Amino acid sequence: MNAFTVAKFGGTSVADHAAMSHCASVIEENKTTRLVIVSACSGVTNLLVELSNGVDCPLMQQTIISKIAEIHFDILARLPDAPDVKNQIHAILDQIKTLSISVLDVPSSKITDSLVACGELMSSHIFTHLLNAQAIKARFFDVRQVLKTDANYGKATPNLELISQYAQELLIPLCKEQVVVTQGFMGSDSLGNTTTLGRGGSDYSAALLAEAIQADILEIWTDVPGIYSTDPRIASQAKPISEISFNEASEMANFGAKILHPATLLPAMRRNIPVFVGSSQAPKLGGTWIRHQAQASPLFRALALRCNQTLITLTSLNMLHAYGFLANVFNILAEHKISVDLITTSEVSVSLTLDQTNTCGGAPMLPKEVEKALEKLCRVTVEQDICLVALIGNKMGESRGGAAKIFGALKDYNLRMICYGASNHNLCFLTHTNEAKDVVRALHKELFE
Ligand code: ADP
Ligand code: ASP
Ligand code: MG
Repeated sequence: MNAFTVAKFGGTSVADHAAMSHCASVIEENKTTRLVIVSACSGVTNLLVELSNGVDCPLMQQTIISKIAEIHFDILARLPDAPDVKNQIHAILDQIKTLSISVLDVPSSKITDSLVACGELMSSHIFTHLLNAQAIKARFFDVRQVLKTDANYGKATPNLELISQYAQELLIPLCKEQVVVTQGFMGSDSLGNTTTLGRGGSDYSAALLAEAIQADILEIWTDVPGIYSTDPRIASQAKPISEISFNEASEMANFGAKILHPATLLPAMRRNIPVFVGSSQAPKLGGTWIRHQAQASPLFRALALRCNQTLITLTSLNMLHAYGFLANVFNILAEHKISVDLITTSEVSVSLTLDQTNTCGGAPMLPKEVEKALEKLCRVTVEQDICLVALIGNKMGESRGGAAKIFGALKDYNLRMICYGASNHNLCFLTHTNEAKDVVRALHKELFE
């Protein structure tokens, strides 16, 4: 019998004592909730990333660490005294200090991962204590015992076999006894070093653990009551979606809808685990169910925006009527483990964008050695300050008149690149950053309002 619900609470959901208390009520309401995954308290990962980038002014470094300490001790101050939890937080803060200094000597993504993972460790210790203080029997669990990954720090790949094995051995027996609270975002490699899954990775952790313990339901509790037709922060007229298919939601996540980490739905799809997305602060408002199949499959479903794109254009007259040029380009990119996102070609040039979800965020850079290798084949132009707008829908290639509506709405904007046709489910284009939100709003008005 494994009637388990896995519940993940994001950064704003565990931002402070009041927010955490709402999460406790959500857990209390559903007695099948046995595994809880928490992100770091809101803002903490950003502060840790700042430290990992190297803050060499001791005063500034101390100011950042004090801010981190304050966020956590403010919550503890509102809970019954627990010297052991306080000691844990002090120990983690000491570790943050040590790591912030060592990153100055030898900057490394390995140290960065150990540093940024401290946010999740602190929030999960405190949240376990809060649950127990509210008479919800809970225990802390270090996810690194189960969430095994490779050693690709900053964007580690999970080892599904080991995760399943350790979840059976270590996690399921504990979940049968009480609520288990663990960390999102982080894992460990075969040597036990801390790794991370990339920014926003707690959603993915929750889905991996739901898959591994064969959960019945995965809940993603965040700061909005479900998935909307676009980010409600961009378009105030965004409409809530009550039910959406795995495929549609994956496309949204993949194309930048921040509500879900891009890889979140893969584990859920593999095990056909329904996913609920709702607001931890207002659970009564309902939310979105993501299932294998949704009852409705509208032509236009949603709009997603992903900024910080890097567009590379490769131009060579040798491409004209030749073969093998693209193969050479992709060989170079593959050798350097560079993942390509969008691509479009013309007679003598090819434009592509670089994939980006690593822990340090920001626009992905084309490493100098890759640029040099490509320059032996062609002229290389790199553009930044570009955003990707994706329109997600169903059977878009089979509809008449849809394109006229889309491009009519965009007549006043400069579209840098358009990708359409590889899938019936999306139409993507690149715009300049300064126009991107207006493009989303204009399209939303035309297609969804
Ligand atoms: P968490 O910290 O809980 O993981 P995130 O900030 O990562 O939360 O994701 C929630 C945010 O995602 C929302 O506040 C909203 O601004 C944004 N968002 C982007 N696209 C959408 C969408 N289509 N529907 C709802 N929210 C969206
Ligand atoms: N705390 C991590 C981040 O801010 C992971 C997450 O919240 O999902 O990216
Ligand atoms: Mg998130």
